[in-house]
Amino acid sequence: MSFATVAHSYNPDAPFILGDDGRDFTHGAFWALAGRLAQALAQAGARPGDRIAVQVEKSVEAVALFYACLRGGFVFLPLNTAYTASEIDYFLSDAEPGIFITAPGKPQARVAKQLTLDDKGGGTLMELLAGCDGAVADAPSSADTLCAILYTSGTTGKSKGAMLSQGNLLSNAEALMQEWRFASADTLIHALPVYHTHGLFVAMNTLFLVGGKMLFRRKFDAADVLRLMPQATVLMGVPTFYTRLLQQEGLTREACKTMRLFVSGSAPLLAETHRDFEARTGHAILERYGMTETNMNTSNPYEGKRKPGTVGFALPGIAVRVREGMIEVKGPNVTRGYWRNEEKTKASFTGDGFFITGDLGYFDDEGYVVINGRGSDLIITGGFNVYPKEIEEKIDAMPGVVESAVIGLPHADFGEAVTAVVVPRKGAALDGAAMIAELRVSLAAFKVPKSIHFVEELPRNTMGKVQKKVLRERFG
Ligand code: AMP
Repeated sequence: MSFATVAHSYNPDAPFILGDDGRDFTHGAFWALAGRLAQALAQAGARPGDRIAVQVEKSVEAVALFYACLRGGFVFLPLNTAYTASEIDYFLSDAEPGIFITAPGKPQARVAKQLTLDDKGGGTLMELLAGCDGAVADAPSSADTLCAILYTSGTTGKSKGAMLSQGNLLSNAEALMQEWRFASADTLIHALPVYHTHGLFVAMNTLFLVGGKMLFRRKFDAADVLRLMPQATVLMGVPTFYTRLLQQEGLTREACKTMRLFVSGSAPLLAETHRDFEARTGHAILERYGMTETNMNTSNPYEGKRKPGTVGFALPGIAVRVREGMIEVKGPNVTRGYWRNEEKTKASFTGDGFFITGDLGYFDDEGYVVINGRGSDLIITGGFNVYPKEIEEKIDAMPGVVESAVIGLPHADFGEAVTAVVVPRKGAALDGAAMIAELRVSLAAFKVPKSIHFVEELPRNTMGKVQKKVLRERFG
């Protein structure tokens, strides 16, 4: 199976992307757009195997560029729009792309060839496209064909480019299609960014594979998503989508009448959000777990109990195990390694071929995987390991607390001092000393935070991940 054979297997007249700019694309029109883009890239000098770096606002063309790379035999390299000039410098020197596509008005000296694309279908790439008829032969491909490099968010040290093959992506889309019961009648609300695995691969490829359609929004807006729901069947989101939706009065059972599935991932969903959402809508959010390097690994069941605070079971064809507290995975979904980084690649695999995720976790008594946070967030204080999640859960359960993040700060005696950063509910008067005293009752002394800081909100990146690095810098 290849993306090309999938594209030719269903009705080309079936709608695929309904844009929020009034432009709609059938599956046939989308695949043709990808063909014309492939031709335009080749005319601009791209050769098979060339990396095509793309840092643009979300648009249909931006996602079609991934499929264009597949068709032309190029390697798609999307970059977060938030990256600054010096970060971009690093990616360009590491990846050496043949072409760099940016928003208009951002000249780049470092690349041989630059093209522009805006979110309304304008720019030099689109001028080139006007002269392309799409009459191109698809580049030969196999499961091993490298089709994308996605740089990891790099919470520790420099970002690394995860190399993803056609087989990695298609096998995962197929597993998700089966597990989440996708069919051509599905309509997905797509409000995620498209430079990240979640919006780009999990959402796009699954709907592509089944011949379903998407309501494509350039930005997430809770009121807008609520308005769209009566025309949709599925929402894929990060936890913030759900906390924002819960703030909408209109979020009711009635509003979700046509919806069959709400999926959450990319960051931990608070158990409280899970429960509140179910109480309001009757829908238990399905939480899953994955990462740039591996695509999706585990999922709560479609049928059966979706357990708050867990990420469910291994997807079909994927092996998940826990060794020394660390989650490891193996399967057709897993990257072959990091771009031009033999050393990091070697260090990321066990002798028997499992990928070391860097996530701490365990199987609960019913076999559901529970994530304890990143290994790099583990706190070592006075020689003891402290798992932040255990303490965060206790703090979150206290009255007047919205959420918390527990971090380790450098400390002369202990190495690291356990420190809590807490978001109080509006109007709640919390007393740090009293909270510490209460934690002492149920936690070993070494786990109890030495101090508590109060903030209005936790710093999060666009995928909803709490940026503990930022907190460590701010309070360190
Ligand atoms: P990324 O490569 O940006 O997709 O980030 C992957 C990381 O996000 C994983 O290694 C986990 O640490 C975290 N993550 C993804 N999904 C979940 C989830 N459902 N619960 C907790 N952490 C998650």
